This record gives sequence, C-alpha cells and structure tokens, in this order.
Amino acid sequence: MFDERIMGLMEEAEALAEDRLKQIDRIVDRNQWKVIRAFQQHKVSDFHFAGSTGYGYNDRGREVLDLVYADVFGAEAALVRPHFVSGTHTIGTALFGVLRPGDELLMLTGRPYDTLHKVIGEPGDGKGSLRDWGVGYREVALLEDGSPDYEAIASAIAPSTRVVGIQRSRGYSWRPSLTVDQIGQLTRFVKEIKPDVIVFVDNCYGEFTELKEPTEAGVDLMAGSLIKNPGGGLAPTGGYIAGRRELVELASYRLTAPGLGGEVGAMLDTLRPMFQGFFLAPHLVGQAVKGAVFAAAVFERLGFVTHPQWNDSRTDLIQAIRFTAADHLIAFVQGIQQAAAVDSHVVPEPWDMPGYEHPVIMAAGTFVQGGSLELSADAPIREPYTAYMQGGLTYSHCKLAVMTAVRNMADRGLVEWLL
Ligand SMILES: *Cc1c(COP(=O)(O)O)cnc(C)c1O
Repeated sequence: MFDERIMGLMEEAEALAEDRLKQIDRIVDRNQWKVIRAFQQHKVSDFHFAGSTGYGYNDRGREVLDLVYADVFGAEAALVRPHFVSGTHTIGTALFGVLRPGDELLMLTGRPYDTLHKVIGEPGDGKGSLRDWGVGYREVALLEDGSPDYEAIASAIAPSTRVVGIQRSRGYSWRPSLTVDQIGQLTRFVKEIKPDVIVFVDNCYGEFTELKEPTEAGVDLMAGSLIKNPGGGLAPTGGYIAGRRELVELASYRLTAPGLGGEVGAMLDTLRPMFQGFFLAPHLVGQAVKGAVFAAAVFERLGFVTHPQWNDSRTDLIQAIRFTAADHLIAFVQGIQQAAAVDSHVVPEPWDMPGYEHPVIMAAGTFVQGGSLELSADAPIREPYTAYMQGGLTYSHCKLAVMTAVRNMADRGLVEWLL
C-alpha cells in the first residue's frame, strides 16, 4: 500500500510518540468509567431509548439523557437536544438565552470562531444578531504566546459586562487551546473582579480530551456540538448546553419558547444513538487524539511546523499543520479525503461555505454530514496556509489518512525527505 519510506516514517512516528499515546489511554479509561458510572446512577434502561413524538411530553429518555450529561460534566443541569442544528446554533441559543439588551458580551480569548461573527453581528444589521438586539460586544486579544491577557481583561470588565466568553479550542487560529486548569484560573480571576458575571465556555472539540470539563472548574455555562466529541460518532445531529440550572433554563426558553423550555421537544429516533454515542465518546475522542499526535509526529519529521507539537499536552482534537503554499494545503486535504471510507472518490475543492469569511477546502468523508469527531480536515484558503485536521473514529484510519496525504504530497513533489 505504501512504499518503504512511508512505512518507515509511520513506525518512527509511533515509536517516538509511544509514551504520549499511552497517556491518552489512561485519560480514556478515567473518562469511560466516569460516563458508565453516570449511566448506572441514573439507571439507564432500554425503554429510555424509545423516542417520543409530537410535543414530546414526559419523555423520560430525554430527561435521563440531560441528567447523565449534567453528571458527567459536573454541572447542575444540561439540555441535550437534536433540535440544535449545529454548534453555532447551540452557542447562539445559550448567549441569547442569558443576555438582554444593554448587557455586554466580552470575549476573553480574542476573535471567536468564524461562524460566531454573524451571531454577534453589527448594530442595525436587521438580522437579529446579538448587537442588532442591543447587546454590546467587545473582545480582549490573547497575548503573543496565546495565553489570556489578565491585565487587559481586568480593565475591560465593565458594569454592563454580563457574560464573559472563553473559547477552549484553537478553532481556525494558530494559538494554543486553553486547558481546563487555565479556564478555571481565568474564571476565578474574573469572578473576583465581578462576582455576578456569567462565565461562558465554547467547549467545541474539548470534551473528554482531559479528565475534567470546564463546568467542573467553576464555569457557569458551556455549550458544544453533538456531531463533535460527545456525540461519539453516532448522534445524527444536535448540541448540548450544560451549567448552572437557572442559566440552562433560560437557554431552554430561547431554544423553544418561554413557558415551554426543555419540557417539550420530541426526540424521535435520536435517543439510542445519543446515549450510545455518549458512552462511546471517551474512547473515540482518545482514538482521534492519538491520530492528531501521530499526524504531528509525522509532519514534524518531514520538516513542517505543527501546533500543537506531538509532545504537547492537548485539550482539544485539532491538529494544525502549517504549509508554505496553497498547493501543499490542497494536496494534504485531498489526501485525507482519499483515505475515507465514505466519498473517497470525491475530490474536495475550495468553496464559499455559509458562515465562513474565506473560501474553505474541506475533506469530509463522514457517515454524519459535517461530523468532525469523524476524521476531517479543513483549511481556509488564506495565508499562512494552515490546515486543521481533526477527528478520526479509529486511530488506524487516522494513520491511513496521514500516510495517504504524505504519499499524495510526495507524488506531487511537495515533500522533502529528511530521512
Ligand atoms: C465547530 C465549532 C463551532 C461551531 O460549530 P458548528 O457546528 O460548525 O456550527 C464553534 N466554536 C468552535 C471552537 C468550534 O470548533
């Protein structure tokens, strides 16, 4: 399948990263046990998997799913629903749920993920964005080294600052992801300045990469997507919000309607894959993180700059690899696609994706459309030509994909063999 140079590279990368790969297994064990314990405590049973229809009143499966999520995330309450169409919708629902006209949202981690720019919006944009509704917005840039700028944060917090936002994952930017410890520290810091401020975390891509989640470190509210980590590859759609009970309730009124909240909403046939996916999530996240470590080790060996580096500790799934030209980027992403089980025959090309400001090329041969706990790679076509790879339901698939990408690049004369 691969020539000796490529096989040699694979063996070398795995030998190099052996200890790191074992550490990941230990995190998987702890998180797997934590999830199973929550299932046991709430006596999850077969009848919880039968989904409701219509209004979805008295859907015990839905209630238990919320309780299991809340327990695992160390939160008072959770709202886990297929009615969230994406991570952006989930995050938007949480923010609209707790912010009121005259309040301000202050992002503590610089420019947020691309798709949130339009949720924040502009005053008078007529789209019903946060700012269109009279919610103020400011952001504090991260320091050069990617850590929060405590001094600037202290002076930015104003009487109207109702919510401070933290993005755990790097998203499409070249910065370290924040660890849960860092998030906890930042939370304590802002609460000392303004005890009633709501600390919100965009937890996308973070779940189960560490032993704790942000809500276990003092965060008030967090949100994430079910077609990323916690859906375990099986949830067909959806999102979750978890945190303090009163805040989760406010978000539920925004998802449905005031007075209805989380008491309605037919789960249809989504409960079994949501429960089973959550059960599988710690293991699958481990497979994906191993794939990311492997990719970093391989591309570092080939002389490319990676972020994080193979040996760095990780708090999300994303592996950024910096190339020097759009050619590299396209050859890499197309190589990832060639190794997929689904749609391997499709050749991805850059396109203007809704919600994104630059053309994006995406490799996504997935069972769930856009599911990015499944192996996928995206790259906005803009300098400095960085590809972001994430996911992988099996580590073996990740290895196949990385080696296919390397072969693809080598075939186009884009690899300088340093071996
Ligand atoms: C994926 C992601 C989002 C948005 O989720 P979509 O499902 O793409 O709408 C927001 N923030 C971060 C950090 C993400 O990774």
